[in-house]
Amino acid sequence: PKVLGIESSCDETGVGIVCGTELLANAVASSVEEHVRFGGVVPEVASRAHLQAMVPMLEKAQADAGIGIEEVDAIAVTSGPGLTGALLVGIASAKALALAYDKPLYGVNHLVGHVAVDQLEHGRLPTPCVALLVSGGHTSLLLVNDIATDVRLLGETMDDAAGEAYDKVARLIGLPYPGGPHIDKAAADGDPKAIAFPRGLTAPKDRERYRFDFSFSGLKSAVARWVEAREGSPDGLPVADICASFQESVCDVLTAKTIDACLANGVEHLVIGGGVAANGRLRALAEERASAAGIEVRVPRPALCTDNGAMIAALGAEVVRRGLRPSALDIAADSSMPVTTVVA
Ligand code: ATP
Ligand code: MG
Ligand code: FE
Repeated sequence: PKVLGIESSCDETGVGIVCGTELLANAVASSVEEHVRFGGVVPEVASRAHLQAMVPMLEKAQADAGIGIEEVDAIAVTSGPGLTGALLVGIASAKALALAYDKPLYGVNHLVGHVAVDQLEHGRLPTPCVALLVSGGHTSLLLVNDIATDVRLLGETMDDAAGEAYDKVARLIGLPYPGGPHIDKAAADGDPKAIAFPRGLTAPKDRERYRFDFSFSGLKSAVARWVEAREGSPDGLPVADICASFQESVCDVLTAKTIDACLANGVEHLVIGGGVAANGRLRALAEERASAAGIEVRVPRPALCTDNGAMIAALGAEVVRRGLRPSALDIAADSSMPVTTVVA
């Protein structure tokens, strides 16, 4: 099916059009520049930027795809989780289009969209598979039996999300927001073994209860203490070594627990999604450890890892393909929509 997808959960306004697993258009506008001086996303600023960007992105997506909204089979929109005011802009737009063009409307889960988007690059997801979702607001291990109807939560972060840890550590060492890409780059010139930062929830005592859960706030504090102890040192901060060592801790824990989850569930396929999946070290280490364990790993190209409309369209297409009932036209934004709820 041909589906138009609208994303507005955070600071990207995305409109994507797909035909099944084929990507036809992916128009994205970001308000990230407007948030840089605040060091994080300001909800009101994001909402207004969505209002300004929505119509231009709708027009760009149709022009790029070479098809109009009248030709799609359905409209999918992120109904959660995310910032309520930001979500509302996408939802109101999607409702208006569904009414005006008489198309079924599907309110879908942003997090599951981060997983579904891989289909646009590597074809239909083999199931069951384990999905590692690593983004700015979430870090979860999922068991995906069916991307549209059966997504289960194996574990998640007990405190900060992986992307959040990247952003906070970047701030500590004076790198700009959002920190992920900057740390990724700086780490390339550093030694990942230079500083022994802790690996959250990997102690033997945590094995039972927190086997598939994560914790990154202790790591962030450890970096803060390390930096503090060297305040005023004449040599300045070894930024590259800090980045490489911090990144190694994050990626080591993420990949070790993910491979463990695959083995524990007898699953041979792994997909990684969300903004942090754009990380070079995470991609390399996942590839290395998965292949050693006989697991096939799929990670979409970086441009599809961060927020976009194509991921929502890709998930919408799967939902339509299953013949699921459309969402009601009065669906609301659900800022804390659980990952197990794929369609509102
Ligand atoms: P969520 O999906 O949980 O609602 P979000 O949509 O804000 O949160 P994404 O857009 O999926 O999050 O990802 C943004 C996060 O990804 C930011 O924290 C950013 O620092 C991080 N990120 C982006 N690129 C990289 C990279 N190359 N390495 C590490 N982190 C990265
Ligand atoms: Mg963003
Ligand atoms: Fe996201």
